[in-house]
Amino acid sequence: MSSVVDIQNVSFAYGEKPALEDVSLTVEAGDFLGLIGPNGSGKTTLLHIMLGLHSPDEGSVELFGEPVDEFDDGERIGYVSQQATSQGGTMPVTVRECVRMGRFAHVGHGRLSDADKRIAEEALETVDIANLADQRINQLSGGQRQRAYIARAIASEADLLALDEPTVGVDAESRDAFYQLLDSLNDSGITIVLIEHDIGVVTDRADHVACLNTTLYHHGDTESFVESDALSEAYGTTGTVVHHHH
Ligand code: ADP
Repeated sequence: MSSVVDIQNVSFAYGEKPALEDVSLTVEAGDFLGLIGPNGSGKTTLLHIMLGLHSPDEGSVELFGEPVDEFDDGERIGYVSQQATSQGGTMPVTVRECVRMGRFAHVGHGRLSDADKRIAEEALETVDIANLADQRINQLSGGQRQRAYIARAIASEADLLALDEPTVGVDAESRDAFYQLLDSLNDSGITIVLIEHDIGVVTDRADHVACLNTTLYHHGDTESFVESDALSEAYGTTGTVVHHHH
């Protein structure tokens, strides 16, 4: 069986400035991977490379067993970017319209059937925003918008959900409910890759942790991460200059 994500020896630089050096990591079906690292450590860059939004300078990337540049099952992936949450885009679509868009890939150029519409309504229920269906996306709070994009991914039957710091600007209570929603989606079989600045969230909920600072300091299960020195090494909180070899 192939991995959902398979990244091998990826390096990437913005001009002269390396953002990723020789990063290899795999994500298996059903996994919940927490991707952590200090600000500017390359997390978003790695996620973009994973999803084919940037091409690596070196190395290879496969999604669902196919080279990422040949991958064209976009509906299998739900991606919630930082910008999506904080700005909500410029299109004045309603929440219901946004979530129905998740069905477009399944109907080609055809019209949505009643069954497609039902799937969209169920997705709204799953993330608990059916009451917001007629509101415009750009008028929602960040946390509500989060859920709308996740509902769209559910409606499209995405089996990989990639989220970039999804709870920035979301209040503590809604955050907790949001992470419970992620857990239940993961329990239903959806693979999750979560960039998260709150390390406690990752150690509480993720199965695997990738700890990044240009190079990978740890990639493995959450228990072995907690027992390792990867965190202080990657974040430099020991106060000493960290030397590492690869
Ligand atoms: P993180 O998500 O961990 O905060 P990023 O992947 O956004 O890190 O950025 C990694 C590094 O690449 C940072 O030093 C950042 O300043 C730089 N960087 C990110 N995007 C660009 C860009 N479009 N052009 C130039 N440098 C960038």
